Amino acid sequence: MDCPICAKPSNDKFAVKYVNVEKCSACGHIYAVDVAIDHGVQEMPDPNAMLRTYGTRNLRLIKFWCKFGFLGDNSRLLDFGAGSGHILRSLTVLMPGVRISCIEADLTASNFLKAQGFMTHNTLSEATLGGYDAILLIELLEHLRDPVSFLMEIKKYLQPGGLIFLSTPIGETRSGNRNLLTYDTSEHIQFWTERSFALFCAQARMIFHPCPPGVMYPMSNLLIGLMREAARTIRDKIQGKRHLVGFLSIDQENLCRELPQSTSNAQACLQEGSLAQPWHRQQLPIHTIGGVSVRFNK
Ligand SMILES: [Zn+2]
Repeated sequence: MDCPICAKPSNDKFAVKYVNVEKCSACGHIYAVDVAIDHGVQEMPDPNAMLRTYGTRNLRLIKFWCKFGFLGDNSRLLDFGAGSGHILRSLTVLMPGVRISCIEADLTASNFLKAQGFMTHNTLSEATLGGYDAILLIELLEHLRDPVSFLMEIKKYLQPGGLIFLSTPIGETRSGNRNLLTYDTSEHIQFWTERSFALFCAQARMIFHPCPPGVMYPMSNLLIGLMREAARTIRDKIQGKRHLVGFLSIDQENLCRELPQSTSNAQACLQEGSLAQPWHRQQLPIHTIGGVSVRFNK
């Protein structure tokens, strides 16, 4: 099977923890072969488990999005692969004006989202073309069989000037390390290299603006969290990234024109490692979302 990213042939074939994979001879992309059509769909055993782990992280992430100008009070947001909706449930507490739609392939999860009151679609075709200021693809791309076609399609659902926020794990670092967490999830299909991800964005004619990966990690203690972030940054520089986090825009010119003037740090945020995170220093009160206690600064 040819590379799903650059269509070049593979030159290596081996087994990882849950699937057999091939490795592209040109871009190094690693991809699962001979998997079932619904292999990427992940089930949701406990709808509150992710909220318990990531509730406080979600606060930082949402504030980061606001600071960047990715989300405003009345933004229209589409969350593709929303899972248990733990980010959306955090968002409704912090920013009740955001108009949320979500798409989730797992039936149990999508019924749960509907029960939580979210506008939930089963497929992308049910969403509104050109209808969203912001789209979330969080830990999603690695579950798809054809991510290039998917990105070409989903970008049509962005408003002019809209942005996609994504995160996805790397499958092989620049230094050749494949001892990575992405292989511990049985539903993963795509295992990126930095090169294959760059080609992927170029194929879909989109530009990737990396963010500090720290915005995606839970941080129980400020000092330890900052030390880990510093260590992660140094390791990424030497060995290559292990996790890709950032925004996708249709093109650079468009992105610059559409960013709100009020987000003075927006351009600075585009540069990796430049994100200020003053909210880490705040004492956060505890709120309850869906029976789960989460530290929130409302
Ligand atoms: Zn390739």
